[in-house]
Order: sequence, then structure tokens, then C-alpha cells
Amino acid sequence: MRAMVLKKASPIETNPLVLEDVPVTQPAGREILLEISACGVCRTELDEIEGRLPTKLPVIPGHQIVGRIKDLGPDASRYRIGQRLGVAWIYRACGLCCFCNRGLENLCDRFMGTGCDADGGYAEYILVHEDFAYPIPDTFEDHEAAPLLCAGAIGYRALKLTGMRDGETIGLFGFGSSAHIQFQLIKYLFPTSRIFVFTRRKGDAPSELAMKMGADWVGETGETPPEKLDCAIDTTPIGSPVKEALRNLEKGGRLVMNLIRKETPITDLDYASHLWGEREVKSVANITRTDVQEFLEVAAKIPIRPEVKKFRLEEANEALLMLKRGQYRGSGVLIIKC
Ligand SMILES: [Zn+2]
Ligand SMILES: [Zn+2]
Repeated sequence: MRAMVLKKASPIETNPLVLEDVPVTQPAGREILLEISACGVCRTELDEIEGRLPTKLPVIPGHQIVGRIKDLGPDASRYRIGQRLGVAWIYRACGLCCFCNRGLENLCDRFMGTGCDADGGYAEYILVHEDFAYPIPDTFEDHEAAPLLCAGAIGYRALKLTGMRDGETIGLFGFGSSAHIQFQLIKYLFPTSRIFVFTRRKGDAPSELAMKMGADWVGETGETPPEKLDCAIDTTPIGSPVKEALRNLEKGGRLVMNLIRKETPITDLDYASHLWGEREVKSVANITRTDVQEFLEVAAKIPIRPEVKKFRLEEANEALLMLKRGQYRGSGVLIIKC
């Protein structure tokens, strides 16, 4: 099969993903073999490729995968050949530890990330355990469903962790793949809430998208929004928006950091001006299968329509470079089979 393979962590500017012909492994036990049609592009892949997040090497990245079942392992019985399924960031968890037992399989010490600890979706096929794949609601086309599997589902987990209620204000720091899906979710779940969006620069692609989607206010990170924020979600790769979010947070407010790695440190936090007043900061770590299932259900009801920029499989380096530079709006998706 054709696959984009990473052999050595390097800056994305050096085109580190190489198109290779890789053998397809037959499914064993309860594994299924999916023929991939679309795979979303995620910032976490930049962290893997550029060496900020430990990953197996060589690795085929990609963890927002939509495909159809091509073959079933001898003990796989949940699904049938041809059925459309999605694969998300959670490739495996142990199912036995104290975290798994409490419904927190995202915190499992033996958590395996798709396209990180196991080969992922920048390829024509993937092997996955049938308990870690999800039927995709019919309302979504393949390229629309792909970004829902990480950007959407982890965004959903982040929103749950803010504890937001209808009528409260929320600030979204960064307006990429995850935030523009969160935006649609917030509008549906909390119809009287006001949403304030912060981006890198006025007039950049994300700020234009936020304006088009009807954000209540759009500004540059560093500006002060018209009201204090009851909740904030940070999806940016740099440290400074954390301080900005906390500076604008109402007393008792909650900031959730929806990302795995920051490229620059979080500096100059001052207890009195950033944390005092029972302001809370929380990170989102990985995802549970329940998050993915719950999110797909609500996403189909709305229905969420991600803004998608399509790329071919062999354009993965270019897609990630454009993501790094903030050069497209919404979600990047590799179209692998039409
Ligand atoms: Zn992701
Ligand atoms: Zn576990």
C-alpha cells in the first residue's frame, strides 16, 4: 500500500514524510483491516514529526481516519465487511488499570496513540482492534467525518471540562480545526452564550472564518474582549495565550488547554493577576471512546459541518506546513480514496 512514512523527527519544512510502498498486514484476532478514504491532519502530528512528542519510528502518522472494512480477523464479530468506520487518537488502552476502571482510559499509563504508538491513517490501509473503531453517522461524508475524530471529539472533551453552562461567556484562543468545530457545538448546546475568538493576527484566515461563522467578537490575542470570560479554551501552540486567557477570565472561571505540546514556554504567570479568585486551569489529555461516541451522536444531530481543505496523500508535508503557518481555515484532510 502507499503510505507517508516518518523515519526521523525533523522540521516539517524539510519534508520529512516520504511516500513509500508498505506491505499490508492481515488482521489477527479481533482486528479489522480498514481501507482508508480520508484522514484528517492534526497539530499533534506536527509535534510528533518535529520531535516534541515521543513516537515510534518509523511511523505512519494520522489519527482522524475514515474507511471501510476490507477484511476481518478470525474473532472479529462486531462489524461486517464494507461497513464505514472511524478511528480516533485512542488506539488502545489497557482496560485494567485504576484509570481505565474509572472511565478515564485517556489517562491509562499504557495508552497508545494512533499514528504515534501504532501506525495510523496517512496510508491506504490500517489495522485496528474492533473495540476501538466507531460507526460514522450517515449525515457525514467521509471528508467531513475525518476532522470530527480528533479536532471534534477532543474539542468536545475540552468543552465538557470547562463545565460551561448556557448564558456563560467563552473565549476561544486559536480558531483552527478544533475551535471551529467547538464553535458549532457551543452554538447548539449553549444558544444564549457569547463566543469571543482570539487569533494570531487581524484578517488572518482563522479570524475571517470566525467572523463568517458569527462570533460575537473577534480580536488578536493580547486584546481585551468586551466582557470577562467565564470559560476559555486554548488550542494554540504557544505559551502566551495562557496568560492572556487567565488575565481575561472571570473569578471562578475555567481555562482548558486543548493540546498536547506547547512550542514555547508559559512564562510570567502572576498569582494575583492570573490565578487569584479561584480561577482554574486544566489540560485535556487524550480521549476516551465514550467521548468519541457521544460527540459523533451530537455532531450528527446538529449537524456539524467542518470547513475542509482537501489534500492528496502525497501532499501531507505541504498540508502540515500550511497548518503550521496558519495558511488555511478549518480542517485539513487527506483524501486517500474517492
Ligand atoms: Zn489530533
Ligand atoms: Zn489502563
